[in-house]
Amino acid sequence: MKDNESIYVTRSSMPELEEYVDEIREIFETHKLTNMGPKHRELQRLLEEYLGVSNAELLVNGHMALEMTLQAFDMEGEVITTPFTFASTTHAIVRNGLTPVFCDIEPENYTIDVSKIESLITDRTCAILPVHVYGNVCDVEGIQSIAERHGLKVIYDAAHTFGETYKGKGTGTFGDASMFSFHATKVFNTIEGGCVTSDDSSLMKRLYELKNFGIKNAESVTAVGANAKMNEFAAAMGICNLRHVDREIEKRSKVYERYMDMLEGVKGLQLPVVQKDVKSNFSYFPVVVDPEVAGCTRDDIFDDLAEQDIHARKYFYPLTNAFDCFKGRFEPEDTPVAKVTADRVITLPIYPDLEFTVVDRICDVIRGMVTD
Ligand SMILES: *Cc1c(COP(=O)(O)O)cnc(C)c1O
Repeated sequence: MKDNESIYVTRSSMPELEEYVDEIREIFETHKLTNMGPKHRELQRLLEEYLGVSNAELLVNGHMALEMTLQAFDMEGEVITTPFTFASTTHAIVRNGLTPVFCDIEPENYTIDVSKIESLITDRTCAILPVHVYGNVCDVEGIQSIAERHGLKVIYDAAHTFGETYKGKGTGTFGDASMFSFHATKVFNTIEGGCVTSDDSSLMKRLYELKNFGIKNAESVTAVGANAKMNEFAAAMGICNLRHVDREIEKRSKVYERYMDMLEGVKGLQLPVVQKDVKSNFSYFPVVVDPEVAGCTRDDIFDDLAEQDIHARKYFYPLTNAFDCFKGRFEPEDTPVAKVTADRVITLPIYPDLEFTVVDRICDVIRGMVTD
């Protein structure tokens, strides 16, 4: 790497050009560009196998996958979720005419605090939408038992858990449905893309129709759907990237370990933890900075890295319940753990080919700022 190269929080995985050209050659022969063509169906089958799920429906992106899943459940009322997430999670709820009710998060793994869910349930609650933040798997057993007790649907935002397992089972097997994102910045990408996994085959059938305008057949349109199909070029990218994803995750784990070696024991930093029973994908490296102990703030670290052309991110800041578009509707103070985490978290660059020399440089900057 050249010294003057900008470093971003991630760098999209891509196959060799020749591999992709080989994969799309057939598309040029058949002129089948979209509408659930051969590449779409092949990737669907490969992903069902890789994720260990019975059904996967491919969509144009993760957000539409989530939004249409909520639509497919045809629910009304309140959805319990967390504000420590990407805009997509909350927007999918609001855009379906549902009301988000924000639950606080766990201070160690940033997923929904299950002990706080039940006090938020009302007679209007229809579902729980938890997020496997940074690839940390939610307390799926705890959530399931609450959902069963109260007759609620559980839809997971699993955008961060591609390829992960909990107790040997793919994360897409929990709850009533899960959404994965294949955005360029994620562990596995189709440039833009996403999928929904579920055991519920009638749900998946509705989703299949919804992503194609609600068209059931040439003469019957049975739902007000939209256009959210994954195209053949995106699917071809996915087929290529899937061949390499295990190796990529392996390389991420080395970067992760290097960060841990360099930052373990540095005062005032809360480092990520690989959870018990979870096979991690090492998708993010979040660090929570306690300014009282570290003697510097998250923003200080962010700014100093930026000065060196290293661009970390403040995922997830601001909280979604603090967004300008929701001004006056929600109260970030109602989720105090999420609020303090959002104010203190910085996600450091991590991707398969990130060189150790860069990791060391990042860690040197951070260690130089934290007071002994
Ligand atoms: C990326 C992401 C999404 C949205 O996925 P897109 O493919 O970008 O639409 C939703 N939720 C979370 C937590 C994400 O990180």
